[in-house]
Amino acid sequence: MSLNQFRLDGKVALITGGNRGIGLAVAEIFGEAGAKSVLTARRDNPDADEILTKKGYDYDFVSGDATDPETPERLVRHTIAKYGRIDILVNNAGVAVHGDTPEFSDEKLEKIISTNVVQVFRFSRAALPAMREQGGGVILNVGSMSGLASNVPQNQVAYNSSKAAVHMMTKSLASEFAAEGIRVNAVAPGYIDTDMSRGGFSNPDWDPVWRRMTPMGRYGQPEEVANCVLFLCSPASSYVTGAVLLIDGGYLTR
Ligand code: NDP
Repeated sequence: MSLNQFRLDGKVALITGGNRGIGLAVAEIFGEAGAKSVLTARRDNPDADEILTKKGYDYDFVSGDATDPETPERLVRHTIAKYGRIDILVNNAGVAVHGDTPEFSDEKLEKIISTNVVQVFRFSRAALPAMREQGGGVILNVGSMSGLASNVPQNQVAYNSSKAAVHMMTKSLASEFAAEGIRVNAVAPGYIDTDMSRGGFSNPDWDPVWRRMTPMGRYGQPEEVANCVLFLCSPASSYVTGAVLLIDGGYLTR
């Protein structure tokens, strides 16, 4: 037994949506844990570059729209070309769109499903052959408590359904690849203080309800998700696969 099991020295990670929010927090903790990371998102973020560079972490940023069918394979190829292998894939990129179902357009529906579901499958499919060849690897999907319960007061049927699909994809991939040393887990965050949720925090109709329904009475920080992602991606969780870890301040205890 050793705390070193929480370290990622020598490991190479690909993190989607790594330029801000939860993805950036994961990039930071991975850097501190000794990993080299390729981060991808549609836009570069100079603030993220400054944070990671100042701390001396070994990382690379490659832009790309995750919903473009060629992006996942291109990013996996780039990761292997740059760092020689791919040990960890963090499928974190995602979008949330609210709206009442009768008025919810096909365009919004397709955006949610292609970003939150299809790209998770494609990135996993692209990374698995290399992990298999290496004799192991870890995939970590960012799901949501919304994949386990329907949030109120906002309506978000497509988002909730997309995250339920991520959880089921996690279990299915875990089962398919467990015997090959590839672990697949998910985290299911509650309300986390990022660009995605801040619109809700400042909405006087939503914020009091969200807080009241969270037993801890506060929103989570991206670092509180990243800590759990580190655990699930490190050797410390070597017997965990197919898990969906709630990080929700107790929201789903009710
Ligand atoms: P942010 O909005 O801060 O970050 C979303 C990330 O996804 C950004 O890096 C964004 O980069 C990237 N992204 C979005 N669309 C695409 C795309 N088409 N191609 C490439 N990258 C894309 O939100 P969070 O950090 O909060 O979200 C991260 C994950 O956590 C998501 O999967 C979200 O669903 C999940 N989550 C968040 C919760 C919260 O309360 N914040 C709660 C539960 C789950 P860019 O826009 O530059 O492309």
